[in-house]
Amino acid sequence: MILPDEADVLEEAFFRADVSDVSRLDYRQRDLNEYVDYLGIERDIVPELYPYFSISRESRCEKHNVPISSCGCPESRETETTVCRLKPEELVEDWVKALRESEAFEAVEWESIGPTRHVLMARFDNTEVSFQCFFDRDEFERYDFEHQALEFGVSFFGDASAVEREYCYSWRQLLDDDFRERFSREVQGLREAFGVDFYEYEPLEGYRDRVRQSLRGYFSESGYEVRREVGEVCAAETIQYDIDTGKTDFVGCEGKSKFVVCHCNKTPGWHVHHFRDGRIESAEQTDLIEDMAGKIEDKINTYQDIREDKQTASRFVSVLATFFSIGFVVLLFDRLGEISVILQEYVTGWNLELAAVILLLFNGVAAIALAVVIVKPYAHDFVFDWEIDPLDAQSPDDSDS
Ligand SMILES: [Zn+2]
Ligand SMILES: [Zn+2]
Repeated sequence: MILPDEADVLEEAFFRADVSDVSRLDYRQRDLNEYVDYLGIERDIVPELYPYFSISRESRCEKHNVPISSCGCPESRETETTVCRLKPEELVEDWVKALRESEAFEAVEWESIGPTRHVLMARFDNTEVSFQCFFDRDEFERYDFEHQALEFGVSFFGDASAVEREYCYSWRQLLDDDFRERFSREVQGLREAFGVDFYEYEPLEGYRDRVRQSLRGYFSESGYEVRREVGEVCAAETIQYDIDTGKTDFVGCEGKSKFVVCHCNKTPGWHVHHFRDGRIESAEQTDLIEDMAGKIEDKINTYQDIREDKQTASRFVSVLATFFSIGFVVLLFDRLGEISVILQEYVTGWNLELAAVILLLFNGVAAIALAVVIVKPYAHDFVFDWEIDPLDAQSPDDSDS
């Protein structure tokens, strides 16, 4: 497993190379010594790096670091040199081993596409992510990353500052202790762009179908053709972006735009994916989704309030029932004359007639209040429907003003 110090030396070596493909370079032992000195590390680390290189002894020109037949210097300059040629696969293998040992990912697999091209597949927060790894800068620059599919880039050719592309890292950064934290933020950002959550999915159990129905109505009233066969309508998109069509709800199509309402595992909640011309786009900025999300949230909240009020009402009913049963017992005692006796003993001087009237009035008000509390949610429920106004429909509030 590669240690941080060793990784630093190698990164320095790759960073100093002024070629595109760092795996084609060879290093002399004294070059490696120089990097180690520069980094302030003990020189005995150099032999530890040898497993990543094939080592040979070669005769070379002291000054030009090539065979003297190539530079034409006198033989006196020829010297026996230890030459180290990078074995990229050995390095990647050890790097993967270090990543497996680290806490950064839940699982790590890798695939070698060529000696200098590797793909790392990892599980991160229950999501599959992949890293395309390059030793060749030009190849890296040409590569078109599919960030929305959680594909990232890794460079072996330079240090962190050499990687200016978004969502790309140097191989050394992945070994950092705080990589997980940083990466987590970036994945979160991408996920949000990939699918916009409009509500939680799990808690809606029990009336989810009615919400779905409402959303379908919203799309179709807003001028979208609504289809349930997402796998057929968005065959290319769902395959390209690896969207589980078993978890899609429906798609709304209009012109080149397709909005897929979906509860796949790409984001934590119930969400919308937006495709335009076959490419994924951020749904966050669209008026349609913003409008829909606001309206459906209001609707769900209203529905939940009604449900809660109904529960409160039914609790009231049971309290009331208890109250009446107690009242019944009290009346029973009253009939036996005991209450009057007690009252007369303790509240002498009170006008019992007035007390009875006040009590009656109070009871009347309480009865009306209770009736309202109990009946209101049921009345609310009676007039409640799941329909939400389509986009651009004037709400009653607007037409009043
Ligand atoms: Zn020479
Ligand atoms: Zn989805």
